[in-house]
Amino acid sequence: MSVALNLDHSTAIRPQAAARPSLIGLSKAQLAETLIANGVVGEKEGRMRASQLWNWLYVNGVTDFDRMTNVAKPVRQKLSNTFILDRPEIVTEQVSMDGTRKWLFRFRDPQNPNMPAVEVETVYIPESDRGTLCVSSQVGCTLTCSFCHTGTQKLVRNLTAGEILGQILMARERLGDFPGGSRPDDGGLVPGGETRAITNIVMMGMGEPLYNYDNVKQALLIASAGDGMSISKRRITLSTSGVVPYIEPTGREIDVMLAISLHAVRDDLRDVLVPINKKWPLKELLEACRKYPGLSNARRITFEYVMLDGINDSDAEAKELVRLLAGIPAKINLIPFNPWPGSNYGTSPSSRIERFADIVNRAGYASPVRTPRGRDIFAACGQLKSESERLSKKDRDALAGV
Ligand code: SAH
Ligand code: SF4
Repeated sequence: MSVALNLDHSTAIRPQAAARPSLIGLSKAQLAETLIANGVVGEKEGRMRASQLWNWLYVNGVTDFDRMTNVAKPVRQKLSNTFILDRPEIVTEQVSMDGTRKWLFRFRDPQNPNMPAVEVETVYIPESDRGTLCVSSQVGCTLTCSFCHTGTQKLVRNLTAGEILGQILMARERLGDFPGGSRPDDGGLVPGGETRAITNIVMMGMGEPLYNYDNVKQALLIASAGDGMSISKRRITLSTSGVVPYIEPTGREIDVMLAISLHAVRDDLRDVLVPINKKWPLKELLEACRKYPGLSNARRITFEYVMLDGINDSDAEAKELVRLLAGIPAKINLIPFNPWPGSNYGTSPSSRIERFADIVNRAGYASPVRTPRGRDIFAACGQLKSESERLSKKDRDALAGV
C-alpha cells in the first residue's frame, strides 16, 4: 500500500511571474552577468552579489528574495521585480510502503507562458547508509528500449538546467534538507548517521541524459559546486543507454560516475532491447568505456543489466559478460525487471538471478542485485512516465506566436 498525497496546485498561469526569467540554473559567472545586464547591480558589485545569491539559492534553499538579509533592500526589490526563483509545482507526492517517495513535478516555461506545462517524475530512495535522488533529464525519451515504460512516452522536450536543479531543490525542500527545514513526519527518511537526506544523485529518471548534454552538464556542475549544494561528484552517477560520442566529454567536463545500460552481451539482442545499439554497437560502446577519463579501480563504471526471464539471463550470457568487460574497472548491477502495464517481459526468477550473479562474482566483479524500491507506487527503475504529450509543430508554433 502507498500513501498518495494530492497537494493543492493551481493550473492558472500567473501573468506577472510569466514574463520574468528564473535565476535557477545559471552558473555563478552567468548570474553575475545577468544581474549586471539587467541593471540590478553595477559592474563592480556583480561578482559579490552573485556569490551572495548563490549561497541563498543553493546552500540555504531560499525562494524569496526578501529573505536574503545580507542583500541591500533596494537590490532585493529590483531582483524581485526582474526575476523569479521558481521551483516546480508538486502535482502529486506518493510514499511507498518501503519509504521511497515519488513526486510528479510540473514545470512551466516562464519565457513562454502559453506553452503547455510539462510533467516529470522524480524519486527519493532512502537506504540505511545513503539517500538517493533519481532525477529526470527529459520529458519522455526519444529512445524506445523495449523493456522501459519511459520509452513508450515520446520525447516532449528536454528539461532545462534550472528544471533539472528544480527537482533537486524541491525534493530537498520537501525532505527538510535545507537549514531550518523540518523533516517529514513519516519516519525512516534520513539514513543512519547522515545529516543530509539526499547524499547521492542518480541521473536515472526519465530520459536519456546524454541527449540533453549541455543542460545536464550545467545542472550537475551547479549541484556539485563546493560552495553551493556541494554534492560530491563521486556521489553523482549518470546513466546512459550508450550515446558514445558524449561518454568521453562526460568524464572530462562533468567528471561524475558513469553507469552504462548494457542489458545484453550480443549485438543482435541489444539491437532489440536497447535500439541505440544499432547506431553505436557493443564494440564501440565498450571502447568508449575503456577510455572513460579518470577510470580506475577506485572509480569503476557500473554496468546495469536488467534480468529478463528467458531473454538475457543464461549462464552463457553471464560468462560472455565477464569476457566482454575484461580489463574495464567495473561493477555489474543486476536489476530485476520491473513490470509496467502493457510490458511484454517477465522478471527472471530469483534463483536464476543468484546463479547469474554467482558467475559474475566468481570472475571478481561486485555484482549487487538492485532491490526493487517503490514498486507499489510505480517508482522503480524503468516504471516512470508522465501524461505530458508532444504537440504537433503547428500547435506549438501557434502557441509560441510564430
Ligand atoms: N536513459 C538512461 C537513464 C534512465 S533509465 C538509461 O537508459 O541509462 C535507468 C535504468 O533503468 C537503465 O539502466 C534502464 O535500462 C533501466 N530500466 C528501464 N526499464 C526498466 C525496467 N522495466 N525494469 C528494470 N530496469 C529498467
Ligand atoms: Fe530512454 Fe533509458 Fe528508458 Fe531507454 S531505458 S527508453 S534510454 S529512459
